[in-house]
This record gives sequence, C-alpha cells and structure tokens, in this order.
Amino acid sequence: MTGEVIDGRKIADVLKHDVARNVDELRDSGITCGLTTIQVGDDFSSQTYRSRLRKIGREVGIEVRDIVLDATTSPGEVIDVVRAANVDPATTGILVLRPLPKHVSEAEIFQELAPIKDIESVHPENAGLLALGVPRYVPSTAASVFHVLDEWLTQAGEQASSFYHRARIVVVGRSNNVGKPLVSLAYARQAAVESVDEWASHTGRLSSHTRRADVLICAAGKPGLIQAEHVRAGAIVLDVGINHLTVDEVSGATRIVGDVAFDAVINRVRAITPVPGGVGPVTDVWLMGNVVEASRAGVLTTSGQGRR
Ligand code: NAD
Repeated sequence: MTGEVIDGRKIADVLKHDVARNVDELRDSGITCGLTTIQVGDDFSSQTYRSRLRKIGREVGIEVRDIVLDATTSPGEVIDVVRAANVDPATTGILVLRPLPKHVSEAEIFQELAPIKDIESVHPENAGLLALGVPRYVPSTAASVFHVLDEWLTQAGEQASSFYHRARIVVVGRSNNVGKPLVSLAYARQAAVESVDEWASHTGRLSSHTRRADVLICAAGKPGLIQAEHVRAGAIVLDVGINHLTVDEVSGATRIVGDVAFDAVINRVRAITPVPGGVGPVTDVWLMGNVVEASRAGVLTTSGQGRR
C-alpha cells in the first residue's frame, strides 16, 4: 500500500479564498480586521511565522502589525503592550508569539489578553470554553489538523461523523497550545481518544499506543520520532511537527521536517500529511479566519449582543 499524500496547500488555498471574501464583506459593512502580533526576543521560528502572516495578511486584506520587544523586556512592560493592544480599535485579534523569554510567564501574559481578541484561545476563559466543547475561537493548529482530516475524509467518500464514531485517535504531544486542544477537538467528534507525551517514550510504551491508532496525530517536535513500527497498517497520519534539521554542518543549511519518518511510513499508511506542505499552510490561514471571527465578535459585543 502506498499512502495518499494529503496536499495541505490546496486545502489552504480554498480556505484563503473564503477568508478573503469574508474580509471584503466586513469591509463593505464598515468593519475592519486587524491582527497585532507581539514577540518578545528574537526567536527565529517566531520571526519566520510573522513574515508568513504578513504575506497572508496582504493576500486576504488583513492588516498585520508586529510589535517586537527586546528579550530583556520586563513582564510589566509586556503586560502594558498587551493592554494597549486590547484597547486599540484597529486591532481585532492579538497573537502573543511563543516562546517568551524565561523571565516572562506565559500564564501571566495570556490572562491579560482581552478574551474577545484572544484568537488562539490561550486566555483561561477561552481555554476553558474550548475544554467544555464550546470554543470562542478554535486554536489554529488543532483546528487545521481536523480541517485537513475532515476535508480528506469527504474527498475519500467517508461520512465524517460515522468515521469518527468508529475511530481511535492517538495524539502524541500534550502541550497547552497544540496537544491538549487537539484532544478537545477529538472529544468533540466523539472519537475514542488517547493522549501520550514524552513519558510514553521514556518508558518504552510509545508504539504500544500509536500502533492502535486509526488516526495518529504527532505534535512532539522530535524529528523521526514516528517510524514504521509505530504505525498501524492503514492508519491516517497527521504530522504537526516542524523541525529545522541541519543538513550541512559547514554552511549551517537546514531543512524542515516533521515528527514522522515520512519515507519509512508512506507504504504503511492510508494517508499522510507531508512536512512542509501539510498542516502548516492551513494553520496560518486559519489564524486569519479567527481574526475575522474576532472582528465580528467585537461588533456584536459593542452592540451588546455578543459574549464579552
Ligand atoms: P512543546 O514542546 O510545547 O510540546 C511538545 C509535547 O510533545 C510535550 O507534551 C512533550 O511531552 C511531548 N514530547 C516530546 N518528546 C516526546 C517524545 N519523545 N515522545 C512523545 N511525546 C513527546 O511543543 P508544541 O508547541 O506543542 O509543538 C509541537 C510541534 O508542533 C513542534 O515541532 C512545533 O514546531 C510544531 N507546531 C506546528 C504547527 C503547525 O502549524 N504545523 C503549529 C504549532 C506548532
């Protein structure tokens, strides 16, 4: 069996078209959409993420404003910047880029975000709504994984709900921003769900979980973690990992790979997302879709109709 390679870029293009249309419609009603990103320090991945968002912002008509603070900025100063974005009328969505420097607590910063502008649902109120199955905004990475899967199932002629009711979904990685939201979205589809983290690997139990998966979702940030022996024949594999692998020690050249050893598993799986070109492109566009949602929610809130 040679697995089908799921083309995330194609799915992202369709989504981008929808987002751009929604932005146009809002603009016609006098509502603007604006994203403010806040980065503290000079993390390379955050910088490349920001430049991708600026490009997509131009394509869909959303203004993206970047605030970059020095790595030594105090927690109080970061909070001041978040509070200013909360009340900035041109900002309808705010993204605080991770990682933050060690002296700045993520939890402290996230709880300063105005929930209505918190497009990644990291504020405790929004994280709670997500865990309860009634998200205000579905976080972009987890949303994209299931959007890609939903789209693929439809195209494969599967009825999504009956597929999920029969499926065992195993999620590798349990971070607050990726792994846990993935589990919440899998619960919402009434699938059987297992979540494992690095302890499954340390105790030699990883493959005993992953080999039972009908759908295996990997978000560990460990290149080559998932090999052929971790995958059940006929599984659908979604690789969330984005890892920069050095391919030339002399020049320092890197290449982006996922967590799954693609060549080792392609002949076992039913379908698989590649890295790059799988989940990643959809995530970037989904985030812009959440900015649109936030603009709509902001209007409802100020008119007294929405949830604050
Ligand atoms: P994180 O470091 O915060 O969390 C990693 C999780 O994986 C932890 O729960 C950890 O216990 C687990 N883990 C680590 N090593 C493991 C192992 N050997 N076996 C099993 N579990 C292990 O990372 P994150 O922010 O959740 O991101 C995970 C990956 O997803 C990274 O590669 C990141 O770059 C990528 N990412 C991709 C997208 C996208 O759009 N595709 C978006 C966000 C993050």
